[in-house]
Amino acid sequence: KIRTRFAPSPTGYMHIGNLRTALYCYLIAKHSDGDFILRIEDTDQKREVEGAVDIIYDVLKETGLNWDEGPDRPGKVGPYVQSERLPLYKEYATKLIEVGGAHYCFCKEEIGENEKDPCRRLSKEEIQKRLDAGEEYVIRQTTPEEGIADFDDEIYGHIEAPCDSLDDQVLLKSDGYPTYNFANVVDDHLMGINVVVRGNEYLSSTPKYNLLYDAFNWERPTYIHLPPVMKDENHKLSKRNGDASFQDLKAEGYLPEAILNYIALLGWAPQDEEILSLEELIKQFTVDRISKAPAIFDKTKLTWMNGMYLRNMDLDTFHNTVKHLYADTITRDVDLKEVSLVLQPRLDRVNKEDVAPMVDFINECLPFDAAIYKHKKMKTNPVNSLEALKIALPAMEAWEDYSDDDGMMHMQMDLAKAHELKNGRIMWPIRVALSNKAMTPGGSVEIAHILGKEETLRRMKQAIA
Ligand code: GLU
Repeated sequence: KIRTRFAPSPTGYMHIGNLRTALYCYLIAKHSDGDFILRIEDTDQKREVEGAVDIIYDVLKETGLNWDEGPDRPGKVGPYVQSERLPLYKEYATKLIEVGGAHYCFCKEEIGENEKDPCRRLSKEEIQKRLDAGEEYVIRQTTPEEGIADFDDEIYGHIEAPCDSLDDQVLLKSDGYPTYNFANVVDDHLMGINVVVRGNEYLSSTPKYNLLYDAFNWERPTYIHLPPVMKDENHKLSKRNGDASFQDLKAEGYLPEAILNYIALLGWAPQDEEILSLEELIKQFTVDRISKAPAIFDKTKLTWMNGMYLRNMDLDTFHNTVKHLYADTITRDVDLKEVSLVLQPRLDRVNKEDVAPMVDFINECLPFDAAIYKHKKMKTNPVNSLEALKIALPAMEAWEDYSDDDGMMHMQMDLAKAHELKNGRIMWPIRVALSNKAMTPGGSVEIAHILGKEETLRRMKQAIA
């Protein structure tokens, strides 16, 4: 059974690359009915942020990436929070020393990259003497002096590193905390993780991790390193550089399911259709369609996709999703569901900035601008528009049911026909008279419906006057 894990550090936000890793971990597990495990990697106490773990929970819940095991859902291999596993790391570091995969180091200075630690040559007696004297130490990996460390990555293929270039990295710090480099191996093994999915920044360290597996005589997992998510060709997307996190995107009016769908495509190619629910993604997601080319985060495409999600909703759902935005953008007492009906085909994001300019005409018809009557395709201009409005006014006065869109539409079309005019010659002027805008959600009929008879007639008369 496949077991994957998402192992975020609690930083206080969920950046897009992180969420994509979580999604791919989830999809790879679920595609073959495996387990998706959540592990909190909080061993870097300096980076600890209040409430950060809750943010991780919230984002995963909102996007539907339900974990089978995690801190709040213990399985057999907990605890699932690294800071609660300190005795384990100590135990395994000591074991590793016994089998020759690690050693005590008392160096007070940093050891350069690619360098072997001189302490690896200390005698047993010397080490014991210094330990007994209470000298501070770290535990470092004892990497081989020669040979090749290699493995096969599912995405990047065969990776190898000459052992003489591998540094004796710290595994356990002097304060008893493990480094990521040690904790990830111990935990992945003890938690039965057999497919490791993570960002490609760990690709070059993975030969060293595999040496640890080998030293313990543990079975190595399969590795799936993911290409980075880029802001443009040269820059990685990063929260630190001010790029949007999941929460930021949500605040901008993107739906969690649209964000998730879009993120799925950042490095993975579907067979054909791009709009895919989580369930469909689970069905379709195979590792062979993951690309190793960096993916570029394209907000325009996300916006388009978000619009598609909004359009695919039934009206009630759409209305419930957007209606909170009307609270202080629409001041006139109108049928808000009608407003939703005309907005749904046009709105791409659920936010006030986008909605306000589409609905402000409902509140009042702003200072009149006759120039808007001029429309090339409709063949309208201020003069013939005025004539059209004079023709239309009595018909609109006589019309009873302003909620009968179809009926009113035919009435306006019949009116045009009777005067041997194209439909647009009547409808465009009405729309402009009611909104003083060249672009509105909905046409003359929908707007009249929203405004109601009294306000519609008032605006038409005002335009003629
Ligand atoms: N805690 C690491 C991170 O947030 C996880 C890396 C991994 O998945 O192994 O980058």
